[in-house]
Amino acid sequence: MPTDTDVIDVIATRPLDLDDDQLKKDFVLACRILVHEGVSEGAFNVSVRTGADEMMAIPVTSPTLVTTDNLETYSISGGSNHWRAHPAIYSERPDVGAIIHCHPPHVTAFSACTEDFVPVHHYGAPFHGKIARYQSPGQTKSKDRARDLAGQLGDNRAIMQQGHGVIVVGKDLHEALILTLFLEESCQMTLTARQMGTPTYLTLEHSQKITPQILKQRSQDKAWDHYVDKLRLAGWA
Ligand SMILES: [Zn+2]
Repeated sequence: MPTDTDVIDVIATRPLDLDDDQLKKDFVLACRILVHEGVSEGAFNVSVRTGADEMMAIPVTSPTLVTTDNLETYSISGGSNHWRAHPAIYSERPDVGAIIHCHPPHVTAFSACTEDFVPVHHYGAPFHGKIARYQSPGQTKSKDRARDLAGQLGDNRAIMQQGHGVIVVGKDLHEALILTLFLEESCQMTLTARQMGTPTYLTLEHSQKITPQILKQRSQDKAWDHYVDKLRLAGWA
């Protein structure tokens, strides 16, 4: 089990140890959860590492139209014309097993601010000191730009793209999804706390203590089940 500090030494080659069918089902569920939770409406992109030099990615379509039959597979070294940042990040970060790029409203608003992210809420703890900023508005349309973005991500959990959105990475699809939702909730909570008064922010020491609790596998499994069940109750799964 990696600690927060040595996570980059771990090689993620087969997220969740799932077979292809289950991985594809989880992929579709993750896309629906992102829409259902309101973190991105018309556009986002998701990928998972499926081998040492292979990734599975969302097709170029509406997120609601992703099915187990239209997912696409690319080699990481060959790259993808659609999602250039993903192979660049997998190449730089052997510990990353899944990547989500989306435009959560509160995270995107915060991407336009210049201050560092400091959480007021437990769910923000994993991001304390672990968010990079990409101060170059626009999409990642070239390999050079993708390489630059991956380099700036460094060993962080997320990179906020100024006035655009965010890229969140995780050891597997479940973790990337949960971190994406937790980051949005944290930014929303910070905004609410500021409106109520003067927030007390978590110290880095507190965040580092809380993070392993937030990210322990049992908590992630519970969170995944919760979001999937919300889909089921809404008739989306
Ligand atoms: Zn975008």
